Amino acid sequence: MKKIIILVVAALLIVAYFALDLHRYLTLDGLKASLGQFETWRAASPLLVALAFFSVYVLVTALSLPGAAVMTLAAGALFGLLEGTVIVSFASSIGATLAFLVSRFVLRDVVQQRFGDRLKAINDGVAREGAFYLFTLRLVPLFPFFLINILMGLTPIRTRTFYWVSQLGMLAGTLVYVNAGTQLAKLTSLSGILSPGLLLSFALLGIFPLLAKHFMDFLQRRRVYAKWQRPKQFDRNLIVIGAGAAGLVTSYIAAAVKAKVTLIEAHKMGGDCLNYGCVPSKAIIKSARIAHQMRHGEHYGLENTTPAFSFRKVMARVHEVIRTVEPHDSVERYTELGVEVLQGYARIVDPWTVEVKLNSGEIQRLTTRSIVIATGAQPFVPPLPGLDDVGYVTSDTLWDEFAKLDAPPARLVVLGGGPIGCELAQSFARLGSQVTQVEKCTRIMVREDEEVSDLARDSLTRDGVAVLTGHTALRCEREGERKFIVVEHGGIEQRIEFDALLCAVGRVARLTGYGLEDLGIETKRTVATNDYLETLYPNIYAAGDVAGPYQFTHIAAHQAWYTAVNALFGDFKKFKVDYSVVPWATFIEPEVARVGLNEQDAKEKGIAYEVTKYGIDDLDRAIADGNAYGFVKVLTVPGKDKILGVTIVGEHAGDLLAEFVLAIKHGLGLNKILGTIHTYPTMAEANKYVAGEWKRAHAPQRVLAWLSRYHAWRRG
Ligand SMILES: Cc1cc2nc3c(=O)[nH]c(=O)nc-3n(C[C@H](O)[C@H](O)[C@H](O)COP(=O)(O)OP(=O)(O)OC[C@H]3O[C@@H](n4cnc5c(N)ncnc54)[C@H](O)[C@@H]3O)c2cc1C
Repeated sequence: MKKIIILVVAALLIVAYFALDLHRYLTLDGLKASLGQFETWRAASPLLVALAFFSVYVLVTALSLPGAAVMTLAAGALFGLLEGTVIVSFASSIGATLAFLVSRFVLRDVVQQRFGDRLKAINDGVAREGAFYLFTLRLVPLFPFFLINILMGLTPIRTRTFYWVSQLGMLAGTLVYVNAGTQLAKLTSLSGILSPGLLLSFALLGIFPLLAKHFMDFLQRRRVYAKWQRPKQFDRNLIVIGAGAAGLVTSYIAAAVKAKVTLIEAHKMGGDCLNYGCVPSKAIIKSARIAHQMRHGEHYGLENTTPAFSFRKVMARVHEVIRTVEPHDSVERYTELGVEVLQGYARIVDPWTVEVKLNSGEIQRLTTRSIVIATGAQPFVPPLPGLDDVGYVTSDTLWDEFAKLDAPPARLVVLGGGPIGCELAQSFARLGSQVTQVEKCTRIMVREDEEVSDLARDSLTRDGVAVLTGHTALRCEREGERKFIVVEHGGIEQRIEFDALLCAVGRVARLTGYGLEDLGIETKRTVATNDYLETLYPNIYAAGDVAGPYQFTHIAAHQAWYTAVNALFGDFKKFKVDYSVVPWATFIEPEVARVGLNEQDAKEKGIAYEVTKYGIDDLDRAIADGNAYGFVKVLTVPGKDKILGVTIVGEHAGDLLAEFVLAIKHGLGLNKILGTIHTYPTMAEANKYVAGEWKRAHAPQRVLAWLSRYHAWRRG
């Protein structure tokens, strides 16, 4: 409503301006004709005239009316160079800021909602260098004054910055015009005020700060190298530290484009994903799931059976799966691909030198043009008193430690309600452990919408997990062989006895012990990088969990492309890493998969959205498979089929998501998904049906009413 009032008032004032033909005063001839009158008024009450002039100037600029240039001349003619410049400088800046604010208030939300993703690059640029761009635009009077006000209002630049940069940037132009106004009688046209030479000087002056900034950046980058001795030549084009997803893909790409690349791994090829993460966790999830299905055989018309199994064999299968995948990431494979693989611990000695302590004990120093840090992350162990005394496992140690057990731990406490904690809590509960999951937040899987967290909690609870949300772990205690964790909830302490404790409260980037400290590479939870994944040293890059902001294998691999290409070809062209479409999944049952915005993100960011939901309980294939649960929830731009984000809960949600990932990435809307044949009967049909739900909700009711009449008429 407020927006409408503002628009109406502005429109009325603009109409009045033209209807009353006030513009005639704001032409060069009009000004010359009425100058005598103004001077008489000014002689009678100088302050009043100055104030009135100031107010009219503010109004003209705030309403983006034509005539500001003539008013600036008038200021020179009426008030002289100094006073005129002061009046115009403040009036024009205040007027411009008002126009800017009106544009921001009335238009910005609409524009950002509609074109937000396409404007992202501009928004980012303005957030970083907006003051410089504005200064340039202000100094060069070729850019229309009113347009700059309106356009800048649509960007995230701060009002204060807009005001002072505008005032500073317009000062030179104001001076020229006010000065010309002091010689008003000699002026025959407005176009003569700015000669081509003067325009060029303004343009140069305008781009100078931007150039100066880039030059300063260049100097600063040079300065970081100043204390290091650059080798005359390099043994290699690229050294990659760490052979997890990020390091493997980086070196693969480098070798594919014939660079000389060395990959150094201190521990196991394949890193966390293969050895401690995705692969073993998915293997145990499968065994646990089969055990669960056996227990619920009746659901499929079979007998319920208590699965008889050897836990040792389950864990042996986990290791067998790792062994089967291992060759994909092996030294042999990468050597064959053209990568030199060294097994040892790497330390960056200077921006071009890496020292490797090989597993054989030998130490080698290698020089390289570029380095990629892909050292990953490790489980965070909370500083709980008594934790070391009772002992614990993390995702790093669990697979070996539990492989020694004959049976799953009878009582398992899982600390953490994130994806890893949930996947493992459910799996061990299904394998027979009595699992208690402790989570500090009020719900598990907090990054997802509340209804998703609720479904996950219900499912875990059904499987026998005691999900304690809002519970803070305080300390661990031991009484002889008995082990306890003390948790607090609502001021009340509770003691939980356990046989094994799994810490799954997050993973922290590996940042120390390999040279970052000596090189002064900034680390705040992760290695600090810019959009090109460059660290403080433009020839040292970081990718994967160590760089953040996501901790997924597919993001590590995605970043790897950028680090490899930027490191090897960055002198010609650099690419900014693109996180615009990031999917992920949590492999509990029901599986939870997401890409783009969910409702809580959209609300947090103030992005308007519409929700369309399709219940998978209605899907033929899901019913036949006994998996009739979950939903596909799509957020779209209001009134449009453009997809903002998708959450899928249900069987194979991670696989179903792929269609939406492709759609968002390539700008395909729900109409396109609806118009695509989906095989019957598959779970993927859920994607088409949700698009159908959207279409039904947006059916043109008026047209349908007319069609109904038309058909009635045809029937006679
Ligand atoms: C239980 C669990 C389940 C997971 N499930 C999934 C999932 O389902 N999907 C998914 O996408 N992600 C999952 N992840 C996350 C995924 O494993 C990580 O995001 C991924 O492994 C990150 O790869 P990376 O290359 O950055 O690091 P890493 O895989 O950690 O590799 C880093 C490597 O660097 C080596 N290194 C470190 N320092 C040095 C040094 N100085 N010299 C030489 N070598 C060094 C390390 O030994 C390590 O091998 C899971 C993680 C866990 C723990």
